[in-house]
Amino acid sequence: MTFAVEIFRLKKTYAGGVEALKGIDLTIEPGDFFALLGPNGAGKSTTISILCSLVNKSEGVVKVFGHDLDTERNWVKMQIGVVPQEFNFNQFEPVEEVVINQGGFYGLTRQKARARSALLLKQLGLWDKRKTMSRQLSGGMKRRLMIARALVHEPRLLILDEPTAGVDIELRRGMWQFLSDINAAGTTIILTTHYLEEAEQLCRNIAIINEGRIIKHTNMRDLLNTVAQETFVLYCNRPIGSMPIIPAADARIIEPFVLEVDLVQGQSLSDVFEVLRGHGIEVLRMKNKTNRLEELFLKLVNQSNEASQ
Ligand code: ADP
Repeated sequence: MTFAVEIFRLKKTYAGGVEALKGIDLTIEPGDFFALLGPNGAGKSTTISILCSLVNKSEGVVKVFGHDLDTERNWVKMQIGVVPQEFNFNQFEPVEEVVINQGGFYGLTRQKARARSALLLKQLGLWDKRKTMSRQLSGGMKRRLMIARALVHEPRLLILDEPTAGVDIELRRGMWQFLSDINAAGTTIILTTHYLEEAEQLCRNIAIINEGRIIKHTNMRDLLNTVAQETFVLYCNRPIGSMPIIPAADARIIEPFVLEVDLVQGQSLSDVFEVLRGHGIEVLRMKNKTNRLEELFLKLVNQSNEASQ
């Protein structure tokens, strides 16, 4: 199979001597929705900046859809759309000009660029703003403009660095839907994120990077399955006087109406509901106490830090 991205022993040492990448291997399949996760300074931006030719690598091999970055840089650039963290469009251009002009950089005719721009601005909810000076857009709109601009030349690979940073919850969900749709239509997507929920919702495969090394490279489902225990908070319809015995689950009353239940893998919440119902208690609402991915992430990073000490 030809991978969308194939990275082999990639190293980056910045001029000041910081070893941002210490030899990473990574493969991403075509059509994947891939998350690159890691704490600040882990090397995520460096990795994607190398992919996008914004930063030169020190060592290693990078291939995009089978083409080597060293020998076919321009071809590789044409396959990639990138949405960096900072707003780097011309703030004094109207919205549609930002997108259309970018099409020009990639060799699209004005007519083609205009058509692509119209389509993308409509899909991203910016059509009404097409004549607005881009400086005047809200943060969330600017982020969407960056995405429209990145997609104007129909790249096969879209790379987003923290796409929903500064975007409010409602808009974030809209953006997730848009990204899921273009992924379903065939675009390979890589994103870096601090929002672990985002990776959990969107991504099929994941690499966790820490201190310039990949410490986990797996699919999201397997990763989540490795989390031994999950804690749920259950909000009940009446005060729970004394704790009903729930077989095989560890449960505690934390407020008169609120229960906390630990479940290990294989245990089902419906058993808990049944026991409670037997005591005349209905669960009105529930939530995960912690994000499983977040827990796992902390565990992996700690393990990796201990191992390197
Ligand atoms: P992340 O995106 O995971 O937060 P980065 O790739 O931005 O991590 O940074 C990795 C490391 O490289 C950090 O120690 C950071 O300080 C350093 N670094 C990033 N960019 C530069 C640069 N232009 N010059 C020197 N050091 C840099």
